[in-house]
Amino acid sequence: MNVDIEAKVLNTKKMLLNAQKDGYAVPAFNIHNLETIQVVVEAASSLRSPVILAGTPGTFSYAGRDYIQAIVETAAKKYDIPIALHLDHHENIQDIKESVLLGTKSVMIDASHHPFEENIKIVKEVVDFAHSYGATVEAELGRLGGQEDDLIVDEADSYYTDPIAAKEFVERTGIDSLAVAIGTAHGLYKSEPKLDFERLAQIKQVIDIPLVLHGASGISVTDVRKCIDLGCCKVNIATELKIPFSENIRKYLTEHLDANDPRKYVQPAKEAMRQVVIDKIKMCKSENRI
Ligand SMILES: [Zn+2]
Repeated sequence: MNVDIEAKVLNTKKMLLNAQKDGYAVPAFNIHNLETIQVVVEAASSLRSPVILAGTPGTFSYAGRDYIQAIVETAAKKYDIPIALHLDHHENIQDIKESVLLGTKSVMIDASHHPFEENIKIVKEVVDFAHSYGATVEAELGRLGGQEDDLIVDEADSYYTDPIAAKEFVERTGIDSLAVAIGTAHGLYKSEPKLDFERLAQIKQVIDIPLVLHGASGISVTDVRKCIDLGCCKVNIATELKIPFSENIRKYLTEHLDANDPRKYVQPAKEAMRQVVIDKIKMCKSENRI
């Protein structure tokens, strides 16, 4: 067992730099409760993949920051793979501080809806705080359209990441990874997404920190792999996990009208989700990296 991964919830620094060096991405799966955390960690462990467990503000207010932290810490003790707990799309600095003080080591501060200078100011404040606790910080420049939990961005309000501005953004904030907007969107796609690979290549040319691909649900394996080749070292997956989980609970309960045992009716949902996690780990080329 690698000494770096002994029984603790990690930050994403080394994880993402390793991925960058070796040309793969660490998958970040949005989890919601004990069951979804179990599925993701078990699948990652069986494939020897580093993994990031991500929670939106909605997840933490649903389950409680302390509960999620405790479950992930237990998972990190149980499995000898690198595991990070990551705050996805957090906008409230107090929430971030609360989680960091509980032991979370990976943070996304999403101030992308603010003007450039304001975005920098907010992100810098979070970087200064998080780094003093050994936590890594991801931020976004540009704005993804679509919906993720309570975060809803109209297509008209979305815009792509500008490479030159991104360089300045990274230098002035000191962030550890940058979420890029290159044509992906949160949630499901209504029409085939067209990704701006040229822009991604330009961003990669001027920025040396790991890049993050949001909105990967519904993007083809070929396109995700191309993004990985162009510097995306973290790929976020949310919607594609929720769908099989919910569908299979619905199917089971419809077929077993007298079912009343959550331990039973959740099983098929966990299995369906596990298959997606396995497929996504393979898509990210992160299996057998430990
Ligand atoms: Zn996102």
